[in-house]
Amino acid sequence: MSTLFDDRTEELIQEYRQRFEESPLFISRGPGRVNLIGEHTDYNDGFVLPVALKRDVRIVLRPRSDRQVRVYSVEFGESGSFDLDAVRFNPDRLWLNYIQGMAQSLEEEGIRLVGIDAVVSGNVPRGSGLSSSAALEIASAHAFLIAAGQNGVLSGPRIAQLAQRAENQFVGVNCGIMDQFISELGRANHALLIDCRSLEYRLVSMPEEAALVIGNTRASRSLASSAYNERRAECEQGVKLLQTALPDIRALRDVTSEQLEAHRALLPQNIYQRCRHVVSENERVLQCVDAFECNDLDEVGRLMDASHKSLRDDYLVSSVALDAMVAAMRGAEGCYGARLTGAGFGGCAVALVKPGHEQAVADAIFEHYPKATNIWPEVYMTKAADGASAEAI
Ligand code: ADP
Ligand code: MG
Repeated sequence: MSTLFDDRTEELIQEYRQRFEESPLFISRGPGRVNLIGEHTDYNDGFVLPVALKRDVRIVLRPRSDRQVRVYSVEFGESGSFDLDAVRFNPDRLWLNYIQGMAQSLEEEGIRLVGIDAVVSGNVPRGSGLSSSAALEIASAHAFLIAAGQNGVLSGPRIAQLAQRAENQFVGVNCGIMDQFISELGRANHALLIDCRSLEYRLVSMPEEAALVIGNTRASRSLASSAYNERRAECEQGVKLLQTALPDIRALRDVTSEQLEAHRALLPQNIYQRCRHVVSENERVLQCVDAFECNDLDEVGRLMDASHKSLRDDYLVSSVALDAMVAAMRGAEGCYGARLTGAGFGGCAVALVKPGHEQAVADAIFEHYPKATNIWPEVYMTKAADGASAEAI
């Protein structure tokens, strides 16, 4: 069968047998993701270029004949349950809300679900910016769909939108569409170019010699959410001011670098810098797609470096920890380029690396990063992996 049948799945099946005293019938999977380039562009109607990770959330399950859902979470060591006819936010089982929200979203779409008995487990680091939440939502979506015999009824983009709705409306986290989209639609050895305005998307083939090393700073992200809201407001202000000269623009997506320079006098310095990041970052995403398609990994690396500088100096969302992580990566042999990924302030940085040099980059991180920050990091080596799946066991 598929690559899903490894030791992790075997352990999950064993866990299920112990909990429910029978064997699971299905397994579903939703991967985490890392964004290669295109940061803080999503809410400006722009472009992003994420890849799905090998790290994922998996659910083994059996359909029930009623509408009860019983789930055991391996990582939390907790059971949770709910009734599909009485879904409400559970303040004592925060992880269960992603699953409940997904069920509600699917039923609102007109998909009649059945109850399930399930065990969930994932190795996407939680709360580190690699989107374990989207991985859980997407794995849940496929668990419910396959249990109800409804696999294949919804398109991938629709499933992604329903998952985003679950997170926005049920869990109450104001995320964009990128995470669910890539978790659903990623493909091995490909990145996914997403137009966050139209939701058009295109797989971009990544050369064989493109490996990724992700460094988790494990630094506090406490500043991230207030700064996120502030940046969004600054971008909106930039659009309003630019509209006095460019009445047709709806978002920073519609502004070119030349236009921004031509109308720079309309903007206070801080707003100009925020706009310059977004406008140049959108251009870098498209240049990066061209560079991948020409197999020019040196150019991809340069664009990633430029993205980090822009996020650090114009968008002001880097941190001592992220800068130290990126510097450690860049100092290693075989690293084409590196940048912070995700909203910033903490979380992860990603490096594009020549295959065979992943360990050298990891070694450099472990050597230099703790000295600069007093924090012991985590390092994940990966390549672009497949998006979600569900199948019979
Ligand atoms: P991120 O998406 O960046 O990893 P979030 O805070 O958005 O961080 O989502 C993390 C939350 O998602 C966790 O606190 C938990 O509620 C849920 N989650 C993620 N992975 C799992 C898992 N393996 N099992 C149960 N819940 C999980
Ligand atoms: Mg999340």
